[in-house]
Amino acid sequence: AAPGVRYLLHDGELVDYADARLHVLSTTLKYGVGVFEGFRAYWSEDDQQLYAFRVEDHMKRLVESMKVVEIEGPRDTAALTEQLLGLIRANGLRGNLHMRAQVFVDSSDGKPEDTGPSTVFMAAIPMGNYFGTSGLHVQISSWARLSDRSMPPRVKSIANYQNGRLALLEARRNGYDATLLLTENGHVAEGAGYNVFMVRQGRLCTPPVTESILEGITRDSVLHLARTELGIDVDIRPIDRTELYSADEVFVCGSAAEVNHVASVDRTVIGDGTAGETTRHLQRLYRQAVIGRVAADRNWATPVYPG
Ligand code: PMP
Repeated sequence: AAPGVRYLLHDGELVDYADARLHVLSTTLKYGVGVFEGFRAYWSEDDQQLYAFRVEDHMKRLVESMKVVEIEGPRDTAALTEQLLGLIRANGLRGNLHMRAQVFVDSSDGKPEDTGPSTVFMAAIPMGNYFGTSGLHVQISSWARLSDRSMPPRVKSIANYQNGRLALLEARRNGYDATLLLTENGHVAEGAGYNVFMVRQGRLCTPPVTESILEGITRDSVLHLARTELGIDVDIRPIDRTELYSADEVFVCGSAAEVNHVASVDRTVIGDGTAGETTRHLQRLYRQAVIGRVAADRNWATPVYPG
């Protein structure tokens, strides 16, 4: 069990950590049918409060994922949000957290075409930073990012993660920290758990959602922060691999990954290898946004405990 975590949530009911189980013959385990979300909550020492970041937006994507890969299950995002916040409170967690919501198909004799019955698990686990701050050394993968013609990359289907996993294993084997995958057409897509941005020729750029990417919530937050807080307009356009080599800044972002700078791509150093100015501004803004200090009008940061 994770330290300090007594309960998980199974179909809205608190269960002991050790008792959250799925049968070995369920469709999810046999055929990889399932969807999930990963989100974070941040403890503010100043406010003595825990803030959960964009929980309902994640729950909306969970519902969209269920719809796209045809899984029955709850569609009430407000109720799902309340369940997750209730789980954190039940565990009395006061510190930075990573949360998961997972929808599995729990049939007794799993068939690939099963759409239900589904079962929902949620977890909230203490978590520090995912990446360090020293900059990531990234390899462009020889694996292509899966495309919407084969698997839907825009949603969080568990089966999609084999693609990023192979790319990450390849990168690690070759001595890199992280990976970026190209689309079938050779454009920059995303990494195994994060979207990507670059600053090149003075413009902040990121691939459009039609370039085989997960429609990242951190990506969306960064776009909003860049536009409203920094007054930058962002180019949402296809990006070539060699544009990254000659970029002034490259950073990746995700709920777990946060906003992290890329020091090199295929051993080509980006800028001087340290986090560039735009990256640093966006990192600072993101850290403030997750505890409701910036972009407060968006109501992204939900206080977990009564004030
Ligand atoms: N791409 C992939 C493949 C991911 O798994 C993630 C993490 N959920 C992201 C991008 C970033 O998405 P988000 O900002 O919504 O966490």
